[in-house]
Amino acid sequence: MSIIYTCRHCGQEIGALDQDVVDTTMLGIDKLSIGETKEMIHFKQNGDVAIQVICESCENALEDHPHYHELDFFIQ
Ligand SMILES: [Zn+2]
Repeated sequence: MSIIYTCRHCGQEIGALDQDVVDTTMLGIDKLSIGETKEMIHFKQNGDVAIQVICESCENALEDHPHYHELDFFIQ
């Protein structure tokens, strides 16, 4: 299976990992609440896992516009 990281803001694919076993600790998602995990992680029918994160360019844009942080959830 693959773990695919996609930017939640612009939809750009940031990276992908091939994993036999998905370890939620490795992904850092064990620290999230159940609700957050459901929003961020999508299990595809082919077994791949899509994780929505934020890409560098969107992160930079948000630093220029910090008020965006009030509108959405971000990984620390
Ligand atoms: Zn982005």
